[in-house]
Amino acid sequence: MKMTNRNWLPAYCNPTAYLPKIQETRSQFSKPPYLFSDFMGRALRFLRSDEVKKMGFIYDPKHTLPCKWKCADESVFGIDLAIAAFTGHYPFDKGQIGGVFNQHSIGAAVHHGKVNMDFGGSHVGYVPNEFGGEFGKIWRPQYGEYSTDCGHIMKRIAPFKEVYDDACKSIMAFNPGSGKVILSIPNEFIQPNWSSNNIKLLIDTDRLTISDVPYKQDLKYTHTPIGRSLFYLKPEFLENLELEVAKSFQNSTPTPIGKTLTHRYFNIFDTDADVDDVGLPHDKLNLYMKYILSAHNSPHALKAAIIKTNLEYNKISDSVRLPEYKQNSFASFAGVIIDMYDEALGNYINLYQPLGLCIKPPNSTNVIELSPEEIHYTFDNLTPVSPVYPFELILQGNDGKKILDNFTFKPGYFKTLEL
Ligand SMILES: [Zn+2]
Repeated sequence: MKMTNRNWLPAYCNPTAYLPKIQETRSQFSKPPYLFSDFMGRALRFLRSDEVKKMGFIYDPKHTLPCKWKCADESVFGIDLAIAAFTGHYPFDKGQIGGVFNQHSIGAAVHHGKVNMDFGGSHVGYVPNEFGGEFGKIWRPQYGEYSTDCGHIMKRIAPFKEVYDDACKSIMAFNPGSGKVILSIPNEFIQPNWSSNNIKLLIDTDRLTISDVPYKQDLKYTHTPIGRSLFYLKPEFLENLELEVAKSFQNSTPTPIGKTLTHRYFNIFDTDADVDDVGLPHDKLNLYMKYILSAHNSPHALKAAIIKTNLEYNKISDSVRLPEYKQNSFASFAGVIIDMYDEALGNYINLYQPLGLCIKPPNSTNVIELSPEEIHYTFDNLTPVSPVYPFELILQGNDGKKILDNFTFKPGYFKTLEL
């Protein structure tokens, strides 16, 4: 009988349970992001269009309450400035630290304006370099050094990343010359009790291995090393790798499996995570942690921002359809806010990659949703409206084009420096 280690997993990590999909970095960043202020100008032009009127949404600037939902970090203050400059109104805050959308704020917001126009999303720092740039950190002038951005999300991911990186380094593959590649796995990645860390990473032995390696006195490579278990690796795993990488595992010297440890082959969970009555974690980011850690087309900080924005957007499209808001109308933009520090300006500039738009007309509980492709396609052909207050004053004559040119990230084109 083939053994499984899946029974050690909490219910929410069950590999056969379907998890809602999240937008892929590759498609979301097939087009470069906008400068947020430019996006804002186009968004306002779009909301005035006949296309939007036909959806039943009437944009009347006088009666529309602009709202923001984003992290408290000062690096995203450009969003507030742009909203104030383009609408002439100060934004209502529907956000919380970490880029959380505060559902409880909607009641007060609709009390201030029947029509709500929301801009928000998760944010991530970007430092340009010749390798496509680095995500997850930014220059902090007060300290004169780089620090994490979004600090809240990076701190949340850090303990998981530490365990994942350790697994990538310490799980070894080798071929002793027997024809079959063997995986040597520290026992803490097989059964949770072998690790004292509250973050547990378990290799999915069902997916990655054929069986454990039976002990044979005359075959030295079958002898169990201390603290480790040996398994025969499934040939399909090697077949899906780049030739050079697959070859490195055919060597008799054990080689770390590194980033070939993709989300299919492991699960990761926090034994201290708060779960609800049916065993689902309150923080949905837990469900997607393995995708964040092992993403190949995306640095983990960017992947986290995309996933977090998806999770929070779901709250918006869900809440605006509640019967209590039937009379109200909403135009809610969700996207990833990319923070860059502009040395010449001595301040932060925000880019915006739209991930979705949800429009709810009045007297309805239905929403109309636009995909990122539709937003880019429509917005690229629109002339941005002019701001009510001159935004150029804030940018000190810098039109932001230069900073856009410095954003060189393309899916798969980046260097992960940590590992
Ligand atoms: Zn933040």
